[in-house]
Amino acid sequence: MEYVSLISGETFHINEFEKKTNKQPPYYQTGGKYALCPWCKSSVQIIGGLNNSTHSRTRKMYAAHTPNEITKLNFDNEAKFECVNYKGNDNNWQKIYTISKTEQKNQELVDFIENNIDQIAKDVGNILGFKFILDSGKRSKVFDKVYESFNDA
Ligand SMILES: [Zn+2]
Repeated sequence: MEYVSLISGETFHINEFEKKTNKQPPYYQTGGKYALCPWCKSSVQIIGGLNNSTHSRTRKMYAAHTPNEITKLNFDNEAKFECVNYKGNDNNWQKIYTISKTEQKNQELVDFIENNIDQIAKDVGNILGFKFILDSGKRSKVFDKVYESFNDA
């Protein structure tokens, strides 16, 4: 993924990581760069980029869910595996964000959807007769699949 969140909930592109975090812990620790996934709020690590102990093969910078807990950052293994940004299906996401860099309107739409995702899931679910919000308050996997196919279109 190319967008990350701070504990405060502020979300931004990873290119702004140094500026937004002031290189302070818990975002910078033991040579690594960390933040939270905007979707599932579980910890992510920034891979690649300058001054980073974790290098990517392609030299491209991105964020990936951490496999383990990071000190002072939230770690939610269950939410992570249900996360639309999870490795198995993050290709669609990369595409959206790539498009959005050049098209401001797309970014606005993406931002709107992300900020209102739960309400949208509820409303669309009501229209279609599906239960997209589970009793637990989480979005269902069915909704995530529908949302993915929408993004693919
Ligand atoms: Zn996530």
